[in-house]
Amino acid sequence: QATLGSTGIDPYPDWKAGEPVPYAALCTTFSLIEMTTKRLVISAHASLFLNQVLRLTPGDLLPTVQLMINKLAADYAGIELGIGESLIMKAIGETTGRSLAVIKADQHEIGDLGLVAAKSRSNQPTMFKPKPLTVRGVHEGLLSIAKVQGHGSQDKKISGIKKLLSAADAATAGKGSKGVDITKDKGGPSEAKFLIRFLEGKLRLGLAEKTVLVALAHAVVAYEAALNGDKAPSADRLADGEAVLKQTYSELPAYEVIIPAMLEHGIFNLANVCKLQPGVPLKPMLAKPTKSITEVLDRFEGKDFTCEYKYDGERAQIHYVAPDSIHQYPNATTTLQKDAKGLSSIFSRNSEDLSKKYPDILAKLDRWIKPGVSSFVLDCETVAWDLETKKVLPFQQLMTRKRKDVKAEDVKVKVCVFAFDLLFLNGDPTVKKSLRERRQLLHDSFNPIEGEFAFAQHGNTNDLEEIQHLLEESVKASCEGLMVKMLDTEESGYEPSKRSRNWLKVKKDYLAGLGDSLDLVVLGAYFGRGKRTSVYGAFLLAAYNTTKQTFETVCNIGTGFSEAVLEELHKELSPLAIDRPKPFYDHSSVPKDQPDVWFEPRLVWEVKAADLTLSPRYKAAADEVVGTTGGGKGISLRFPRYIKARDDKKPEEATTTRAVAEMYRKQEAIVKENAGKKGVD
Ligand code: ATP
Repeated sequence: QATLGSTGIDPYPDWKAGEPVPYAALCTTFSLIEMTTKRLVISAHASLFLNQVLRLTPGDLLPTVQLMINKLAADYAGIELGIGESLIMKAIGETTGRSLAVIKADQHEIGDLGLVAAKSRSNQPTMFKPKPLTVRGVHEGLLSIAKVQGHGSQDKKISGIKKLLSAADAATAGKGSKGVDITKDKGGPSEAKFLIRFLEGKLRLGLAEKTVLVALAHAVVAYEAALNGDKAPSADRLADGEAVLKQTYSELPAYEVIIPAMLEHGIFNLANVCKLQPGVPLKPMLAKPTKSITEVLDRFEGKDFTCEYKYDGERAQIHYVAPDSIHQYPNATTTLQKDAKGLSSIFSRNSEDLSKKYPDILAKLDRWIKPGVSSFVLDCETVAWDLETKKVLPFQQLMTRKRKDVKAEDVKVKVCVFAFDLLFLNGDPTVKKSLRERRQLLHDSFNPIEGEFAFAQHGNTNDLEEIQHLLEESVKASCEGLMVKMLDTEESGYEPSKRSRNWLKVKKDYLAGLGDSLDLVVLGAYFGRGKRTSVYGAFLLAAYNTTKQTFETVCNIGTGFSEAVLEELHKELSPLAIDRPKPFYDHSSVPKDQPDVWFEPRLVWEVKAADLTLSPRYKAAADEVVGTTGGGKGISLRFPRYIKARDDKKPEEATTTRAVAEMYRKQEAIVKENAGKKGVD
């Protein structure tokens, strides 16, 4: 067994084998994690705890992992808590008998609703001791809160929160954590604190989802070794287990499927029992930006590659199972839509189910497949299509489609599906095959139908002028540019969820100015001047620091909005207003002239800029450039312009501060190169 002795801490000595995992035990572990910033220590605490769950109550492993990653279910299940600050404050007030005004004042002073809840609970005299919370009970309670819909749902959600909160301990400090100094300012291992933070969607532990995945692998490897009577596993064995779980999760990102399979068959058998399958959307492969065609040629020198048009629409992963194959995919029957033609669904790049947005596509799927195709997963782009001119329409047209409850017969904006990859065919994943093979299978299995289904246009060339020509043609065909992809080697396999160097994007507008656009989160707004006083006139935008799990401001933007857009944005953003910045809005990156209004972090916007500059005002990526600046400065955008809303991205999928730093370094390298050239002249 992985020794608990290695940290000297038993997170919860009272918990006995076979008993449900106490929520207090998980909170004690959270608290231990919260006290450190060292990645290895964080991972060790998480892994030891999961190992203890495996030894004592393995049946609770799934909800434990879900509470650790702050997700109640896999993304495709579409389960969102959707609970704003005001609702949480109301629930805390009603549970603890404190007035909303007092809770608001506390929140204003403390700035962390989790701590406000803990404080409110500890001030409250308890008449009787409620039954202790369990991990499973909390998971189920939260799930039912998330599922409440329709009339009176707010009140029902509040009463669900109250039920959990009234059973939560304000502080279990010291309980079971011998010799551990739980720092007061972090509030200790309070159940109330972590419950509320879960509802807010941020546990603020510095425990990234990837770290939990690694910790889970280590916990299971150690557990299995102990079962076999082996010694503690070697570092190599742990690394092997980690690699298996990472690979499995990238093809099948569903703990609901993986954890039971792992418990039954063991971690080292996962590759045989858990494979990519219809019904579980995977995170798509993404591309790296480039600045020029010569950069592409440098990267792919001596290798075969292909240039595809980069269509400007919405990423769509289409899953399909024919009626007579349904029995092979028991998981698919719960996630995919069923009709006489079989099972099918369309998922976004976020694994959100888009089937209700594109019923017109699903209704036609069976027309595209050739005889003998019984199941598939396709990677495509849906693009608005002009039936008269038989041409691709701009992205903005696609965005005018309703997102839900669309009736196929009412659809006004027609879409054409451009398929560029095939990830699964007739019972087998194809992701490990080369792109050339996948493309061949794709073309052999489907029939293009004009204006409905097409293969992405491509040219296999490594000639600079021919690539330039393809780029121009793609732009004439209303595309964004080219996707250049490795074609033959092992590196040309499909890499789920990776931004890979084996796919490069060349956008037409890269060829001058700043490479890529950025996708940034709206944190706050300033009221407008002159004509714009009744709406927000400028906005504070941030990039996401994945390590610290914080948002770091990168610019203030007031350009690119029409009056109509500003009015729309005012309507959309007003309900998201909050009293003060969230604790995970990096404080040191916020400029002195703070916004008039702060928002919940929800909206993501695509923004372009002239260039990036070192700045003492907006300090995104300050950690990354500290060596360059000697501290005190971060990176900000110059002359930012609003391009469009990215409804398909969550705030955590915004451009990362690391990517901002990388763009800045690239820009500086080019500036230097040009300066060098001028010097020679
Ligand atoms: P972008 O702002 O460029 O869309 P992104 O972060 O959404 O950025 P990228 O990896 O940068 O995604 O670009 C790839 C996107 O381009 C894909 O997500 C897909 O939606 C779209 N796309 C269009 N045509 C293709 C193609 N032929 N191959 C792959 N992706 C394509």
